[in-house]
Amino acid sequence: MEKFVDIAYLIAAVSFIYGLKMLSHPKTARNGNMIASLGMLIAIVATVFLGTNLDLTMIVSAMVIGSIIGAFFAVRVEMTQMPQLVAIFNGFGGGASALVASAEFLQGADTVFAITAITLSVLIGTLTFTGSFIAFGKLQGIVTTKPVTFPGQQLLNALLAIIMFACAYMILQNSADGMILFYIILGLSALLGILLVIPIGGADMPVVISLLNSYSGIAAAMTGFVLVSTGENSAGNALIICGSLVGASGMILTQIMCKGMNRSLANVIFGAVGGDDSGSTGGEGQQLNIKSYSTEEAAMIFDAAEKIIVVPGYGLAVAQAQHAVREVAEFLEGKGKNVLYAIHPVAGRMPGHMNVLLAEANISYDQLKDLDEINPEFEDCDVALVLGANDVVNPAARTETGSPIYGMPILNVDKARTVMVNKRSMNAGFAGIQNELFGYDNTIMIFGDAKDMLTQLLSDLKEL
Ligand code: NDP
Repeated sequence: MEKFVDIAYLIAAVSFIYGLKMLSHPKTARNGNMIASLGMLIAIVATVFLGTNLDLTMIVSAMVIGSIIGAFFAVRVEMTQMPQLVAIFNGFGGGASALVASAEFLQGADTVFAITAITLSVLIGTLTFTGSFIAFGKLQGIVTTKPVTFPGQQLLNALLAIIMFACAYMILQNSADGMILFYIILGLSALLGILLVIPIGGADMPVVISLLNSYSGIAAAMTGFVLVSTGENSAGNALIICGSLVGASGMILTQIMCKGMNRSLANVIFGAVGGDDSGSTGGEGQQLNIKSYSTEEAAMIFDAAEKIIVVPGYGLAVAQAQHAVREVAEFLEGKGKNVLYAIHPVAGRMPGHMNVLLAEANISYDQLKDLDEINPEFEDCDVALVLGANDVVNPAARTETGSPIYGMPILNVDKARTVMVNKRSMNAGFAGIQNELFGYDNTIMIFGDAKDMLTQLLSDLKEL
């Protein structure tokens, strides 16, 4: 039997790795997700039905309740609320790892290896749990989105970490107060999670969530070590592999997001952008020459255009205009025009946000072009249609050294013959700065909600 369990865990681990690799391309991502989920199912079946003598009623009831809650939220949640959902899932992942490690402690684990792994698992898992809930609260507007800071904050965090390791050391010295020391570790880890996330502005939460996702993986890997230390080698190894994959991929994703915003991780964690209402530099206060057009006038420009590049941004997701944009694009293609989509790596509020959104509306992956591929295309493009995007098309990133987005790679929409920008007002985007593009000679603004504007544009196009 043990051999079967080992083989099942091996298949599960290979499925995770293979599935993760497939997630790196939109075309294969759906199948990759399926393969990794299948791997998880194999691991669960092996653990529950073959590997142990657990109470099946308890486990099956928990699985049914968990699946119903998970499926309910996954179906109901809006695309713009996805970061919140991921935050909660990460939090539960970290919490589950901490609980498994705690159970092993309560069952009397006492070697140096076991106590070290338990301490790390409880520390990282619990801080991921509380930190993720603060991140959720900030995104949901339940917790203040402003950075909450106080003098000596970093010092206090370091002190808490030192106290926790001192407690772990005392447990190893066979202190009679082992249980109290363990609860101190648990409580301080929970506090540390809160203290690490409150100083970060609400707008930077997606990066924090990606980081917490990585932490939840590390906590799972630590729990894997705990299981190995207590002789449950197969399950432990499977957990170490899958935890390391989550930990490493979460860390890589965090790096990609930081690079896309041209900010260091330290800058995200210690110097929040967008969470503060004080505004920032970058062409602020300059009078722009805004030309506001109607959808009727815009339709005439499209009628004369041959090459059109659509630039989706956060506003498109807010308006849920992905189907409306597909309908407009299909109509234009029907008239023999070439329509492409320019995808900036951090357009929207989470990595891959625009790809997922457009895929949901059945827009072909072949039309989605990433930054390096599309930028040379703007020069011979007749219309760049910017839909609810702002920072990712702000030319200040190329020229204004004082701007918070200086150095961030942007989509060169200003090089197009006509730039058509749709948004509801002259309000700033995520970075809180004005965008001079809106006043350029070749830019026209079409104000309104993206979905309403596109619906009206389609009917105007049909009337031409
Ligand atoms: P921005 O946040 O810069 O701009 C979005 C624009 O959409 C706003 O100016 C808003 O203007 C407009 N808008 C909002 N609602 C609607 C609506 N219903 N219809 C039409 N327009 C609307 O978005 P971008 O996508 O350009 O840039 C993303 C920003 O998010 C970048 O600064 C990036 O660094 C940051 N970020 C991205 C992450 C990622 O992983 N993708 C993670 C963390 C941050 P108005 O209110 O006038 O309508």
